[in-house]
Amino acid sequence: METKNRRDFLKKSILGISGATLLPSNLKIGMVGEALKSDLPELPFRALGKTGIKTPLISMGTSGATASGFVRSAYEAGIKVFFSATYYGEGNNEKLVGEGLKGLPRDSFVVGTAVPSDGMDMRSGTFTKPFDSQAYIAKAEQSLKRFGLEYVDFFLFPYAGKKETVLNESVLKALEQLKKQGKTRFVGIASHSDTEEALLAATDSGVYELAMIGYNYKTINKESLNIAISKTVKAGIGIVAMKTTAGASRQKSGPSLNTDAALKWVLQNENISSIVSGMSSFEELQKNLAMIQNLKMSDQELKDLNLAGQNKEPGLYCHQCKKCIPQCPYNLDIPTIMRSYMYAYGYKNTAQAWHTLAGVEISGRPCEKCDACKVRCTAGFDVKNKIMDISRLKDIPRDFLHG
Ligand code: SF4
Ligand code: SF4
Repeated sequence: METKNRRDFLKKSILGISGATLLPSNLKIGMVGEALKSDLPELPFRALGKTGIKTPLISMGTSGATASGFVRSAYEAGIKVFFSATYYGEGNNEKLVGEGLKGLPRDSFVVGTAVPSDGMDMRSGTFTKPFDSQAYIAKAEQSLKRFGLEYVDFFLFPYAGKKETVLNESVLKALEQLKKQGKTRFVGIASHSDTEEALLAATDSGVYELAMIGYNYKTINKESLNIAISKTVKAGIGIVAMKTTAGASRQKSGPSLNTDAALKWVLQNENISSIVSGMSSFEELQKNLAMIQNLKMSDQELKDLNLAGQNKEPGLYCHQCKKCIPQCPYNLDIPTIMRSYMYAYGYKNTAQAWHTLAGVEISGRPCEKCDACKVRCTAGFDVKNKIMDISRLKDIPRDFLHG
């Protein structure tokens, strides 16, 4: 296929599912600010560990935001905690958040950002080369510049799972140095896998003050995870939850999942201080604001969630259990590829899907060489088909994607 035709094909097939992310923003700050200015009472909040921060039950995960005006509108509607990452939009997301919050009293909002280290192997969650403190601190400083802030409230160390990574002495020293230098008020981890191990290690560290974890009604090993969460909170570490709809889009609750019910389920656990919701539309923002006003789950919501839980359809949520990796003769990083698939098809965030996939080695299309996939996935995914579908995203230049 000619290059141009191939690109057109890829754009139509993969990006057709998430065309909104390709559209340039036409939002204007003043206009959207007016539209959402409201007389809402202060949003229901919870304490965030021992930080002294009282966070509204909904925080904003900014990866899907395409306009600074939307960030500002969320602030004006009562959202006060914003989480970005250095890799969202290749740093542009931090700029956008900074623009959205520009000029506001610095103590009226909380900003956190995930700063990854080079040389992390996503499959194992460990370092492939020694952690470089100076490079890491320089990366964090770049992040501050993009925000246009003198300090953030949280620098988060992402992809933290394995104990040896969370407790790596050089990592802890670098994070403490950033605090001493006044570049951040607090530090934390963001964990996509091995969450219990990560939480217990964070608790032992005496350094981390926040943990961002995946948590939803589909979470496996809920009992042991809840025990680890409880120990973490007792140690004074605040917990915020991500992946709370298990991959379902918040834009449209449908027969497959009542997303209000899914979010309320998360907040029934009082150890979860706030949900990090990847809001990208006013509809989502308004739904979230309405949802947190009444956390009591109705009989219908309980029924909807129960039905969704019993649904044998695998859906989009990968438990990140890593049980697939040793089953695959090519040792593919299937959990990360599945996360990318969920970002593309669930969250409709192609840029985040692209970025997630960028760190994964899938050269030579190994799945094409397998007649039958050897992997029996815990979630029941047809991993071969999903990998063959999402891996086409690798052929799309980053510049083609908005966000
Ligand atoms: S076995 Fe399935 S659910 Fe578990 S990490 Fe692999 S793809 Fe995800
Ligand atoms: S089809 Fe893909 S995921 Fe399945 S065993 Fe083969 S290479 Fe691994």
